[in-house]
Amino acid sequence: MNKFPRSAYIHIPFCHRRCFYCDFAVIPVGDKVQSLEGFGSEMIKNYLHFLFKEILSIRDKAPLSTIYIGGGTPSILDPKQISELIGLFKNNYGVDYGAEITMEVDPASFNKESLYGFIDAGVNRFSLGAQSFNNQILKIAGRRHSLNDVQYSCELLQEAQLQGFIKSWSFDLIQDFPESNKKTWEDDLYKAISYSPPHMSIYDLSIEKGTVFNRFKNSGKLSFPDSDESYENSLLKSQILQKAGYERYEISNYSIAGHQSRHNRVYWKGLGWWAFGQGSTSSPFGSKFTRPRVSKEYKNWVDQQHDLKLEDSLLKINNKAVDLDERIMLGMRLKEGVNFKRLFFENGWNREKSEKNLMKLLNIWDKYQKKGLLLNEGDRYFLSDPMGMDLSNQILIDMFKWSELIN
Ligand code: SF4
Repeated sequence: MNKFPRSAYIHIPFCHRRCFYCDFAVIPVGDKVQSLEGFGSEMIKNYLHFLFKEILSIRDKAPLSTIYIGGGTPSILDPKQISELIGLFKNNYGVDYGAEITMEVDPASFNKESLYGFIDAGVNRFSLGAQSFNNQILKIAGRRHSLNDVQYSCELLQEAQLQGFIKSWSFDLIQDFPESNKKTWEDDLYKAISYSPPHMSIYDLSIEKGTVFNRFKNSGKLSFPDSDESYENSLLKSQILQKAGYERYEISNYSIAGHQSRHNRVYWKGLGWWAFGQGSTSSPFGSKFTRPRVSKEYKNWVDQQHDLKLEDSLLKINNKAVDLDERIMLGMRLKEGVNFKRLFFENGWNREKSEKNLMKLLNIWDKYQKKGLLLNEGDRYFLSDPMGMDLSNQILIDMFKWSELIN
């Protein structure tokens, strides 16, 4: 096993505007922003100064096998800035031959020239935050792009992959937007697969406190699909994607063979990763640490970390195992589920303790096994697809009861 994380996440917090459902650590910079010179450029350069300083503050490290540039909207940056960022890792950490280097892009925030600039900078996988093809829904969600922008972006990415310039790309959709229905959802799914993205991420809309959607929901201004409609939409999604040859390898992620996200598997498997940038969460040696979400506080923190050499959460001596319940929660999201015998052994439990605690968990989960939502092959337990995966929240939340029982 490697001593140091082999994966790094980098947060670029800038977006043109804040979408109505988003509560991420983002800085809305407006439509006119330019990252190299002119409006907004100083703010971006200043952020990159601190981001680069943070990246360079890690002394002990190993070459990386995955890099994920997320946000925010990283495609607001100029290809030169992305090249500088990736170069920093190449020169100071090392990047494996064949490493997966992903960058999130939003439709309408890049064109052919900038896309190939990002590719020249070293990006070999893109994740397109399309969310829907439907103009009305995109408008209601506060997105800046339109159907035409999504189509244009898909064409560019599809061509780049077919020509061998990139290894893969992913298409993001959000299920259960307000005013969506079975027909609009079916349309979104069919349009998405018509571009053959090798990977798709499909998340259910979640209404977070402080967002415009939360206000709209409370005031009854918009209608959201109810739980029955939502379940129907999930089944429809599973049917359409399965028929199109996608494997659901995680609750919200689908891929054709050989195109799973290597970077995201690091999170789900509870392996260590670096993270850099305002509001980002790292877990290099087990314990998680989230950086300040506010720019000024983040910059002060970077200075402090730099002066103190390394912030506490990043020190190896603070190496702590990720909590067992979290490892189970994450592992059960994956198609292969969790081998409990192995996991308990890794957790230092003897045979007697493992068997006793597994029995307690299976008693709680019994009703789900009887309904066929939870399956097992020997010691490995996993959610059935689609039913178990679509109702995963109930199953996983019940696990907290177990956690209380054994502690
Ligand atoms: S583009 Fe993405 S990160 Fe930016 S505000 Fe919209 S949802 Fe949030």
